Amino acid sequence: MLPVSQPPIENGAVALDQGKVIRVGTWEELGSPRDAIDLGDVILLPGLVNSHCHLDYSGMGDKILPPSSFPDWIKLLIGYKSETSLEQFAKSWLEGALMLAQTGTTTVADIESFPEILPRVLPHLPLRLFSFLEVLSPRATPVAPAEVLQNFLRRVPFERLGGQGAQPNRWPQPMMAGGVNPGWWFGLSPHAPYSTTPELLAACQELAARHGWRLASHISESEPEFQMYMYATGALHEWLRNQRDMADCGHGSPLRVFDQAGLIHESMLAVHMNYLWLDDAEILGRRGASVAHCPRSHRYFKHGCFPHRALTGAKVNICLGTDSMASMESGPNGTSGLNMFTEMQMFASWDSTVSAEHILRLATVNGAQALGLKGRLGQLSAGAYADLIAIPYPGGKTSVYEKAIHHQGPVSASMVGGRWVVPPISAELDASLPWLAGRPAGA
Ligand SMILES: [Zn+2]
Repeated sequence: MLPVSQPPIENGAVALDQGKVIRVGTWEELGSPRDAIDLGDVILLPGLVNSHCHLDYSGMGDKILPPSSFPDWIKLLIGYKSETSLEQFAKSWLEGALMLAQTGTTTVADIESFPEILPRVLPHLPLRLFSFLEVLSPRATPVAPAEVLQNFLRRVPFERLGGQGAQPNRWPQPMMAGGVNPGWWFGLSPHAPYSTTPELLAACQELAARHGWRLASHISESEPEFQMYMYATGALHEWLRNQRDMADCGHGSPLRVFDQAGLIHESMLAVHMNYLWLDDAEILGRRGASVAHCPRSHRYFKHGCFPHRALTGAKVNICLGTDSMASMESGPNGTSGLNMFTEMQMFASWDSTVSAEHILRLATVNGAQALGLKGRLGQLSAGAYADLIAIPYPGGKTSVYEKAIHHQGPVSASMVGGRWVVPPISAELDASLPWLAGRPAGA
């Protein structure tokens, strides 16, 4: 057992009650209970936390080939989105969720471009979900930024997501949606500096702070974005200069724009942060913000080196995400699809000086911290949610952490909140979860 919050336990066991972990230890320490489920020779570890995803783009695998530039990719994505129906997005969303469930993710932080589909898909999702509502409006409008934001919020059918009433501010805490979903959280995702205005960012911050919502934004993802903010030049500046007010460019890094609008703090999940200026890392560390890194998406765009050392040196909490099927190339067996193990493996392949234990932390406890649920997600310890996964234990001499992060294929078992999502051979099938019976997601 790899509890992550403490050293590995050989012949480990975990006692669960009411969807939570109440104790971990060796089989003997837990009293060798007769009603236990023996998972056999496996590595048991906490369910993985996927800190950045776009489930609704899951149907776009290999539909957009790696473009020559980041702005070109955005144009292709906008074109694809305009030709795709809500029905297709809902289907893609569930296909992506199924990929994650089968490969060990138990919590996903998702950017919702189409919140209208949530009542349809959420009851079928056996994972914990953080829904970050995508907000973007690059043009200055005659309408006040707060009203622009309200127009986005009106697209979220809160009243159909569990019957808790239409006031989103009642929901800073997890709630049970209809069906079997084990937990849902709501937050805001002002998309990126270049697709918003400083005034809209400030409005997002004001509302998020009032309601206790977390924030997630794409910041400093590409070189053209960095050039646009630093020097008011480059391909993104060229494309956008007739579409938005560029007065916020030429004064510092993309992070500075967010910081000046008051959005860099412990509730901010800054996605990507591939390009840093001067003390950007120090600002993130000082403010307690987290950074989500998506290795396969990073490779797809051929970004410069992810500044792992600079961020770690500044004590920034770094976590891992899959990003979307629209920004990854399929590989040979086992490397296609949304899969947090593949993300860990790609991270490991880039820097052999980072230990497997550290990489596993990026996909577990660090993700939990980024989502404000340290101690409850990403570790096996008393009081944590009973979110756990098992993968085959192949034996051999390499460390158990190495074996864990290099796992290929689906997990042998997965549990969320004490309920099987992928049941082990020895467990009773829970008929209330339709995809366990081999039926397609959402059927
Ligand atoms: Zn993204």
